[in-house]
Amino acid sequence: MKNLILLGPPGAGKGTQARTLCEKYGFVQLSTGDMLREAKKDETDLGRKVAGIMAKGELVTDEIVIGLIEKKLTNDENEIGFIFDGFPRTLAQADALGNLLDSIGQSLDHVVELYVDDEKLVQRIIGRFTCSSCGELYHKITKPPENAGICDVCGSKDKFNFRQDDNEDSLKIRLLAYYRDTSPLIGYYHVLNKLRKINGLGSVDEIQNNIRNIIK
Ligand code: AMP
Repeated sequence: MKNLILLGPPGAGKGTQARTLCEKYGFVQLSTGDMLREAKKDETDLGRKVAGIMAKGELVTDEIVIGLIEKKLTNDENEIGFIFDGFPRTLAQADALGNLLDSIGQSLDHVVELYVDDEKLVQRIIGRFTCSSCGELYHKITKPPENAGICDVCGSKDKFNFRQDDNEDSLKIRLLAYYRDTSPLIGYYHVLNKLRKINGLGSVDEIQNNIRNIIK
C-alpha cells in the first residue's frame, strides 16, 4: 500500500496524473475539488455553502475538507493506495491527514511536488474542459477532441464542462491561495523527508514515468 500526495498549483497537472495512475495501477484518487464540485452539482447543503467560495477561487474551511477526507478514508477500502489530489492545502489539513492515516494504521509514503511557471499555468487553465460523462480532460488548444464535440474516450456528444473557476480573476486568487496557504507544505514535507520534486512541464507520459520511479 502506497499513499501519495500530489502537490502543486492549479493547472500543474495533479488531476491528470492522479487519474492516469488510478486507471493504470488501481490507486484511489481522493480529490477534494471533485468532491466539492459533486456536492455543488447535486445541490446538497454543502454544495450550496461552498459554491460562492469556489467560484471566487478562495479556500473552503479546513473543517469541511477534512470531514470529506475522513469519510472517504474510513469507508473506501483499497489495496493499492490513495492519491491525494488538491488535499492537503493548509498546514492544519496536513496535520489532520497525518492523524487520520495514523488512526487507520496507515502512513504517507511520498509527496510529489509538480512545479510549473505561473505563466504556463494560466495558459493551461484558461481553455481546459472535461467530458461530463467520463471525466476525460481536454484543452481548446493543446488537446481538443479528435472530432469536435465528441469525447475521444467515451464517445458522448456535446457534453463538455468548463469549470466556473477557470477564469483569470479566480485563477489569480487561487494562485495567491496556493502561495500563501499551500506552499508552506513544501517545507513541512521536506522536513519529514517525504518531498520529491518533479518538473510539471513535460508530456503526461514523461511526468507519469517520473512519478512511477519515485513510488516504485
Ligand atoms: P481544485 O479542483 O483542487 O482546484 O479545487 C477547486 C476549489 O475547491 C478550490 O479553489 C477551493 O475553493 C476548493 N477546495 C478544493 N480542495 C480544497 C482544500 N483541500 N482546502 C480548501 N479548499 C479546497
